[in-house]
Amino acid sequence: MKIAILSRNARLFSTKRLVEAARVRGHSVRVLDPLRCYMRIAAGTFEIHYKGHVLRGIDAVIPRIGASITFYGTAVVRQFEMMGVFTPNGSDAILRARDKLRTLQLLAREGIDLPTTVFGDNPDDTADLLAMLGPAPHVIKLNEGAQGQGVLLAEKNSAAQGMIEAFRGLYANFLVQEFIGEAKGADLRCFVVDGKVIAAMQRQAPEGDFRANLHRGGTAVPVSLTAVEVATAVRAAQVMGLGIAGVDLLRSRRGPLVLEVNSSPGLEGIEAASAVDVAGEIIDFLARATRSDVSGSPRRRARRNT
Ligand code: ADP
Repeated sequence: MKIAILSRNARLFSTKRLVEAARVRGHSVRVLDPLRCYMRIAAGTFEIHYKGHVLRGIDAVIPRIGASITFYGTAVVRQFEMMGVFTPNGSDAILRARDKLRTLQLLAREGIDLPTTVFGDNPDDTADLLAMLGPAPHVIKLNEGAQGQGVLLAEKNSAAQGMIEAFRGLYANFLVQEFIGEAKGADLRCFVVDGKVIAAMQRQAPEGDFRANLHRGGTAVPVSLTAVEVATAVRAAQVMGLGIAGVDLLRSRRGPLVLEVNSSPGLEGIEAASAVDVAGEIIDFLARATRSDVSGSPRRRARRNT
């Protein structure tokens, strides 16, 4: 199988691990910087060029599209889809997952539980908006934030009002959630590949913080998930249409709550904490998906994704 990894930096841990896992399994693999892929679109024909050459014969791509290049990166993924190349995460699914509000709307429609969330535009509605959530503390987060940046805890209503004013002043899209205090600064990262949770870890926020992101100094330990947690993570990835997903859950009194679904989950923390060969599982998934039988041919799968 000929695999392309769409990643801006071949030296990143996740990218290196995917390359290694593909090579170990005897596949041909190369890393393509999505910003160096340029495209030709004409009636019924699609081409991608890279550093002066036409890309040909690629069976599968693994998109690792950073938030800062979402628009261009997903256009490149879409072009591959149009050419019938298999991708575990389609361009539309990546776009859905980038938007926290949209993610929560889609999950809630399917009855998947999440922290109750409100959003609104007009400052005149702020007091009522917060009342819709119930008493503080509240969590205020940027809609397109990542790695815990722009996730704030407001202990009191007045603090929430102030933070909301500040976000509005910056023209930032944000949402406000009930604070799940009983999670005690811990969350669960469930790594879903091809409809199965293949690895999981519990992340714990550093002392004095409530955000468990590893980039914010959180620590990770292996964890065994309950059947309900596994089912919730698998369902969340499925609703988002993602073949590879990092589903973040909070353990709450009323059961698992989905925080977000990441379409380019990192491999370093999860492989270290779980001792699972996550990169290998991803490559095995691509191999299964591109095996050309009639029902699961890459071309058909790609069409369904777009
Ligand atoms: P990001 O996309 O920036 O990682 P998240 O929504 O996942 O943002 O939030 C970052 C961290 O903050 C989570 O991993 C979790 O530990 C904590 N957190 C987020 N929302 C809540 C909430 N409503 N209640 C309690 N903790 C939360």
